[in-house]
Amino acid sequence: MSDRSADVVIVGGAAMGSSTAFFLKHEMDFAGSVLVAERDPAYLRASTSLSASSIRLQFSTPENIRLSAFGVEFLRSMGTRFGPESDPRLHEGGYLIMAGPGGEDLLKENISIQRNEGADTEFYSEAGLRERFPWINADGVSAAAFGPNREGWFDPTALLGTLRRQAKTAGTHYLHGDVVAIEVANGKIEAVRLADGSRIVCGALVNAAGPNAGRVAALAGVALPVEGRKRTAFVVHCRDAPAGLPLCADPSGVWIRPEGAYHIAGWTPSEPEDKAADADDFEPELSEFEDHVWPALARRIPAFEATRMIRAWAGHYDYNTLDQNGIIGRHPEIENLYFINGFSGHGLQQSPAAGRALAELIVHGTFKTIDLARLGYERIARNAPLREHNVL
Ligand SMILES: Cc1cc2nc3c(=O)[nH]c(=O)nc-3n(C[C@H](O)[C@H](O)[C@H](O)COP(=O)(O)OP(=O)(O)OC[C@H]3O[C@@H](n4cnc5c(N)ncnc54)[C@H](O)[C@@H]3O)c2cc1C
Repeated sequence: MSDRSADVVIVGGAAMGSSTAFFLKHEMDFAGSVLVAERDPAYLRASTSLSASSIRLQFSTPENIRLSAFGVEFLRSMGTRFGPESDPRLHEGGYLIMAGPGGEDLLKENISIQRNEGADTEFYSEAGLRERFPWINADGVSAAAFGPNREGWFDPTALLGTLRRQAKTAGTHYLHGDVVAIEVANGKIEAVRLADGSRIVCGALVNAAGPNAGRVAALAGVALPVEGRKRTAFVVHCRDAPAGLPLCADPSGVWIRPEGAYHIAGWTPSEPEDKAADADDFEPELSEFEDHVWPALARRIPAFEATRMIRAWAGHYDYNTLDQNGIIGRHPEIENLYFINGFSGHGLQQSPAAGRALAELIVHGTFKTIDLARLGYERIARNAPLREHNVL
């Protein structure tokens, strides 16, 4: 069997991989060949499919605000650009982020960064919160931030389906295959090997392997601090839920937002409890509902005391253990190895802008629209975190 080859080989064809391919082939008319190797073409275990698919501008890192702002613009335009079946039904219901005791200063700092970036995040004192959202029990909340515009949720399948379809139409080749080895010679990626024994010679290699990105990087002898962290999402029914609920994030790490006739909710464990997930473990952590989600909801939004859990699913965050920020860029020594990894729970909304940025780097050798130099691999190599404080 003779080797295949492609100018750009992308490992992983979900949101990040397909966005990179879309921007290369569809938006930038990249003349080279682009091949996406995807081991799970139905995306049953991809973070992209298992996401809570929400979008916000409320971050503490300016780059994240810019990435998500482009995400909103992209999502808003999809139905018009690509047809009604591509409409991701973006619902801009807003995000309400509540700070616990002692959290007010950081919240204010974050709001100031967001406003500098053009976001219209509103600040609420405890009393102001009670007045603006009368269905909230504000006990234990020191202050809150509410983003009324460009924040909400959308359909992840429409986003992935459209990026993939348009990337294919523009000439990207998708291959069903599991990348199990990477050949490096003379400081360059030469080829990847698939589980079926076939070999693909690479001009450049993009690691878009989501929670598996750390393992894929290790195949090239490269350390990448990205691992899967299990997150369970609960679908809940509440007969008397307040109408027009935004996404509410409680200081306890519990969040909830509307989803059709129901709501979805989850909990973010903090560091000592949060461990790397077994790659094959997609069993929902049902105990989290009784132990964390329901008590926090019943306390914060008393209408949710009478709540029924309908079902639950689990997925893996593509968790960057260094600083919970995305890693976008080129390896400083292996110059044809690119990363688009580690978005730690905010990757879906950033996939259009991240894919565009990486395509710019591949085609032009530099970022053209959003300067993402600070999110590059160099900070990983230097062990110099650029920490994101608003990780939900
Ligand atoms: C429960 C949950 C809630 C979330 N909520 C949000 C949210 O509200 N908003 C938001 O923006 N983000 C959210 N995220 C995060 C977001 O879903 C991810 O950051 C994003 O989808 C990452 O996209 P990706 O393409 O990098 O990874 P994935 O979607 O995981 O795709 C990686 C792909 O690579 C393939 N792959 C891996 N290894 C190999 C290999 N060796 N060979 C071939 N193929 C390979 C996999 O099969 C997979 O399809 C959430 C995630 C979870 C799990």
